[in-house]
Amino acid sequence: MCAHPAGPRHAEVYPHADQAGFPPSTSEELDRLYPKVWPRNTYRAPDGVVRIAGVDVRELARTYGTPLFVIDEVDFKARCAEYAEAFEDPALVHYAAKAFLCTEVARWVAEKGLSLDVCSGGELAVAQRAQFPPERITFHGNNKSLAELEAAVEAGVGLVVLDSYYEIARLAEIAQRHGVVQQVLVRVTVGVEAHTHEFIATAHEDQKFGFSLASGDAAEAVRRVLNSPSLKLVGLHSHIGSQIFDTDGFEVAARRVVGLLAELRKEHGPELIEQLSVIDLGGGFGISYTDRDNPPPPAQMITQIREIVRKECAFADLPVPRIAGEPGRAIAGPGTVTLYEVGTIKDVTLGEGTSRRYVSVDGGMSDNIRTALYDAAYDCRLVSRSSDDGQPGEVKAVLSRVVGKHCESGDIVVRDCWLPDTLAPGDLLAVAATGAYCYSMASNYNKQPLWSRSVTEITDCCCGERRTRTCSAWRCREARMVGGVVKRGWLDALLCDTDRVGPTSRHAVRPRQGRVSRKVLEGCPALRHRPGAGVPQGAGGVVSERRESPVRVALLGCGTVGSEVARLLLNGADELAARVGAPVELAGIAVRRPDKHPELPQQLLTADAGELVESDVDIVVELIGGIEPVRGWLLTALRQGKSVVTGNKALLAEHGGELSEAANDSGADLYYEASVAGAIPLLRPLRESLAGDRITRVMGIVNGTTNFILSAMDSTGASYAETLEEATRLGYAEADPSADVEGYDAASKAAILASLAFHTRVTASDVYREGIVGITASDIAAAKRLNRTVKLLAICERVTDEDGTESVSARVHPVMIPRTHQLAGVGGAFNAVYVEAEAAGELMFYGQGAGGAPTASAVLGDLVAAARNRVAGGRGPRESAHAALPVRPMGQTPTRYHISLDVADRPGVLAQVAQVFAAHGVSIAAVRQRDERSTARLVVVTHLAPDAALEATVNEISKLDVVREVLSVMRVEGEDS
Ligand code: PLP
Repeated sequence: MCAHPAGPRHAEVYPHADQAGFPPSTSEELDRLYPKVWPRNTYRAPDGVVRIAGVDVRELARTYGTPLFVIDEVDFKARCAEYAEAFEDPALVHYAAKAFLCTEVARWVAEKGLSLDVCSGGELAVAQRAQFPPERITFHGNNKSLAELEAAVEAGVGLVVLDSYYEIARLAEIAQRHGVVQQVLVRVTVGVEAHTHEFIATAHEDQKFGFSLASGDAAEAVRRVLNSPSLKLVGLHSHIGSQIFDTDGFEVAARRVVGLLAELRKEHGPELIEQLSVIDLGGGFGISYTDRDNPPPPAQMITQIREIVRKECAFADLPVPRIAGEPGRAIAGPGTVTLYEVGTIKDVTLGEGTSRRYVSVDGGMSDNIRTALYDAAYDCRLVSRSSDDGQPGEVKAVLSRVVGKHCESGDIVVRDCWLPDTLAPGDLLAVAATGAYCYSMASNYNKQPLWSRSVTEITDCCCGERRTRTCSAWRCREARMVGGVVKRGWLDALLCDTDRVGPTSRHAVRPRQGRVSRKVLEGCPALRHRPGAGVPQGAGGVVSERRESPVRVALLGCGTVGSEVARLLLNGADELAARVGAPVELAGIAVRRPDKHPELPQQLLTADAGELVESDVDIVVELIGGIEPVRGWLLTALRQGKSVVTGNKALLAEHGGELSEAANDSGADLYYEASVAGAIPLLRPLRESLAGDRITRVMGIVNGTTNFILSAMDSTGASYAETLEEATRLGYAEADPSADVEGYDAASKAAILASLAFHTRVTASDVYREGIVGITASDIAAAKRLNRTVKLLAICERVTDEDGTESVSARVHPVMIPRTHQLAGVGGAFNAVYVEAEAAGELMFYGQGAGGAPTASAVLGDLVAAARNRVAGGRGPRESAHAALPVRPMGQTPTRYHISLDVADRPGVLAQVAQVFAAHGVSIAAVRQRDERSTARLVVVTHLAPDAALEATVNEISKLDVVREVLSVMRVEGEDS
């Protein structure tokens, strides 16, 4: 028995020495694929090459590259069906998404009728994206954020598994606010730890999950839930471990949970027990990672568990609840293998005549961390040929260690396994049973990229029949960050297989398939891997013939964003050509010092931006920044009919009107998505998608530096100066941070947003601006006491007076918002913008607001749009300033204030203060008072009033004798929940 910290753990415990077992004595043994370890549709064909779902592993590696996760869909779905049958109702099987989830897998799970256990907003978002039935989703987690709980309730998830007292209160409040009764389970820590080789019935409860049974916390949690009218307790939950091979642990857990049911009946009566109709015994069902693992079949294990619960209930005279479970590994694990290519082989002398063979492959701890983390054991085989290469004879088995390519000596994929001494670089190795907790725990350490794609194959089956089999490949290939339009969602949702090609991709490239969508063609891996395949003409008539003359692009500036744009243009030329319908050629790059850019093709570099702009180019991409001389170059380009793509917010905020007019006159395009909120597609939705709606408000966090500083002040309690120093050290703030911290950057962005949203020219000088320099730690603390946080917001509003006159308010200043507000959860350097439109309602745009690659994504998107217009002869949207609304001065803009005062502790003070408010026509929404020795702290929150009236009120109050000090004054947004 081995001791370890209590709580879920995704591996067994193996002593190192026997991981490899005895040396195989024949090549047949060396090449054997044990059926219980390898995916069900995997076999070694007579040519010695392994086929997965009938597909030759060499073909998979050629098509998608390695390292490659290959999942057999048939295997996955069959295991779903087996668990569904064992539990006697598919809905009682909650597939644990943490093992492995992407939208395609969520669809498989939904199709088999199973439920889904998610434990983060990201997993929930993937499920929603796959349109997983929300009533079959169970939300787990020991620290669900407010935003996650909110999202779960909004999504209408079937069950939330409660894990702390805080969470009970938070969820009760959220459900009440939404006017729903949320069904919940209470997670009980039963004092049982079970793993493959160990089972501890009296395990200490020193762990972060659930409510302890022994201490009485579980019973107290039930009491609190029963006291919350917006929550309905429908059962109890317990999860005891992972890789469990027998029912002993489940038996003790079930007995203890049933014991709790009996106690609850005593305390709350039999009606409650009728209501508690489910016991969820969690996951943990073991699988065979090697031939030495012998888990019982699911049906056997679950029948035994059900029998145990039945007996326990009979003994306690309780009705028998339904038994639910949450298998993750047992469904996802066995049907997946990881393919690696051998790169190097090294024999290292260990002394005393011993040596170890290190076989290095092209992945490692970035795709499988379980070996490094838990000493997990795996079965690894040579799969691209047989060990004896079809020449039966002696093949020596060498005890080998398969290691990855990462800068870490713990980067071990398989600690000990037997591989043939004939193994050579270029051979393919496969590691079995990597479907669970590998991709889902993967990292991009050393910038090793992760990417997913799925593909259906028509294959020759092992039995000789031609069949359609599906296997899906998740390939570690390139980092792809996708910021996006998410309505109350998470970025992760979009990170996960947005590039899914669809189950028709492979045969879709064949013209005989008829209709082929552009999306499929663009994303089709087979196309990209067949040089010269090009775009099939007339394939469904969707893709137009490619123009031969290139679209020529001038790039001005090659800093962080510019160099990324240059890289993408130079390396992704084929892909861009396919998207645009013509080759896209980088004609030149203007930089201040060409000799400082040895990494770029020298013939493209020039120091003369003006000359480059005037040369024979179609599109000018400007990433230099600043007003002059850039303004002159861009006006020249536009007047000559060249389209312009720029991220220059300062220029647009000051001279956007002039540039737009020049573009309109010549018929050129002016695109500037990258000027606001980096990668987030925000301007295009405002300009195009919402062009038919009436936007009433755009409010958001558009400056990452200030958001980082305020988030850090909120979490650490540190002062502004200390936090700014830290932000500068970490590279979040520039050496001269004034453009950010004084709000200039955000004001430029507010001007651009307001112009687009309200069809009115708004310049940076029209925007009221206050930065964060004056924010103190006590402002942050005051906000915290009100369950609020401070953010620097850009707020653009359509203000309508009583007589119906409309105007635009655009402002940037620090604001206290409730911690439950969607923007409150946006931390660090992220950006988020909240848009309200009359018909569309509320929309949230969230993602990376800065950085080379994210911003380059926005620039490239604009470039493709401008280039497509050139090829097709169309034009992008023009400036729309027809509304020409007046800009409202800040003093007349309705705002709300939070004022914190240090006042004398004597009667009548409140009346005096209230009188001043009344005199200025400002009505008070809430007052709080706190006594501290001879002084008292008075906190006043107002209703909406003109900003000037509020300012005057504060001025006058500060002069009252009874007011010692005005401690903090800040504007507030959002209603307290
Ligand atoms: N349910 C809960 C609460 C868990 O913590 C886990 C794993 O950590 C699972 C289910 C899934 O476990 P497995 O994949 O071992 O079946």
